[in-house]
Amino acid sequence: MSLTQEGADFAAIPKLELHLHHEGAAPPAFIRGLASEKKVNIDKVFDERGHYAYDDFWHFLQVYEAATSVLKTPEDYARLTTAVLEESAASGVIYTETFLSPDFCGGRDVGAWREYLHAIREAADAAERDMGIVTRGIITCIRHFGPDKAKETALCAAETAGDWIVGFGIAGDEKAGKPRDFAYSFDMAREAELALTAHAGEWGGPQSVRDALEALRPARIGHGVRAIEDLELVDRLAEEGVVLEVCPGSNVTLGIYPDVARHPIEMLRERGVKVTVSTDDPPFFHTTMAKEYEALHHAFGWEEEVFAQINRTALDAAFCDQATKDTLAKRLEISA
Ligand SMILES: [Zn+2]
Repeated sequence: MSLTQEGADFAAIPKLELHLHHEGAAPPAFIRGLASEKKVNIDKVFDERGHYAYDDFWHFLQVYEAATSVLKTPEDYARLTTAVLEESAASGVIYTETFLSPDFCGGRDVGAWREYLHAIREAADAAERDMGIVTRGIITCIRHFGPDKAKETALCAAETAGDWIVGFGIAGDEKAGKPRDFAYSFDMAREAELALTAHAGEWGGPQSVRDALEALRPARIGHGVRAIEDLELVDRLAEEGVVLEVCPGSNVTLGIYPDVARHPIEMLRERGVKVTVSTDDPPFFHTTMAKEYEALHHAFGWEEEVFAQINRTALDAAFCDQATKDTLAKRLEISA
């Protein structure tokens, strides 16, 4: 069925998602429920319709931290994992890589982090059995927490690297510090054989992408879309096969682009850059993977073959092992 037909079901298309912040994907109803169980008042975080409420990116970071402050124990994270993966699976996601931060899970203590990770994995394994969604974790340090804390985070990552924790990255306020401040942490993760990704080119311009590439040598860039302001850089991304984890709805909601039609994802794709599609922090940006696909279809006329290409790119760029990729490839083929 063509996606142009009335009532096309965008949730039915199988999807891979590479850029999802675990806490940022928390459904508001789940956070509200947890807050009331714990008798914590975080009403300010929500608007009158029960959505997350914020004015701009910096306020968003504050609301994000307030909302996620109710997540305090491994058990909370197990429940969060189930709630997040239910939403993703309902949107047709068959594979997701989720950003996890030992900063929020045990204060970067390796022993405490292991307990959180165990709880998260158990919930993710159950979701795989029950809903068919495969999950892998990428540990992220938080840029505005500074390089020293990032080293502790990298140690948590190195200690738990394996078939489930498959990557390391950096998130948070892109304007805090320089990528080279975090090179030590990235080197530690690289030595632990973790694949690497770095947020850049969202709030920072093309130079922030260049700086991240040079200092951290990631295989993927989170966002990276502002590379479009420097076509030489765009061509370099294409030549070097750097994969962009593009989150159009996030960029539009935070005001980087006025609407999806004016988002550079299509220009980047046409110029040969490997682009993938993700939601970032879906309930904060009033989006889902199905909504992202629908918006891209309407903005650029993307049909099933484009989405299939996007998912093949995501599959190649996924940080999981080859056996997992082979299984996912079969599921994509069956649906094609
Ligand atoms: Zn992000």
